[in-house]
Amino acid sequence: MKLVFATQNKNKVDEIKRLIGAQHELLTLADLDYEEELQESSLLLEENALEKANHIYHEFKMNCFSEDTGLEIDFLNGAPGALSARYAGEEKDANQNMNKILKELSGIANRNARFRTVIALVIDGKEFLYEGFINGTITTEKKGNNGFGYDPIFQPEGSTKTFAEMNAEEKSAISHRARAFAKMKEFLESEFAE
Ligand code: IMP
Repeated sequence: MKLVFATQNKNKVDEIKRLIGAQHELLTLADLDYEEELQESSLLLEENALEKANHIYHEFKMNCFSEDTGLEIDFLNGAPGALSARYAGEEKDANQNMNKILKELSGIANRNARFRTVIALVIDGKEFLYEGFINGTITTEKKGNNGFGYDPIFQPEGSTKTFAEMNAEEKSAISHRARAFAKMKEFLESEFAE
């Protein structure tokens, strides 16, 4: 099936391209020459994912999916959540975002957190949602250079490495986004198998 991935985040495109498989053709917003910033106007990942997917579906009349991801930290009552991208300001700067969190958790023992992704799929105008999450802890310092966003301060449970110390395959074997995407892929393959 031909599907548009409605995101402007190149890192997310790279992750999904590795997972999509040969049965589907993935188009990006760059392929469609779409450069406007996609709006996210809610505090809920589900609503933001639907907003972005529906916007592109109506613009291009092409089946598409989008996702929204948040880092949810227990000590901060689930923050930054849907505000993760702009936690330290409108510049959406990953280093500033991580510094803010490391400062807020300085000296705090409870460092439990999770990444949660919601994917919204729009097929012929019908909406479907898929969730994936991974529990872990916030480290006391940044570690590793791979990945993006909060990867250097997130250590998934059962691992001694942060996401940024893993290679792409190791991260994708357990990540929130890969888990949500696997559910969507299973649905597509059961409903639209040729
Ligand atoms: P959004 O889903 O693009 O709004 O991303 C929310 C924030 O979480 C941004 O700051 C991203 O960089 C960050 N983020 C999203 N996915 C990941 C991930 O897989 N690892 C680390 N940070 C992420």
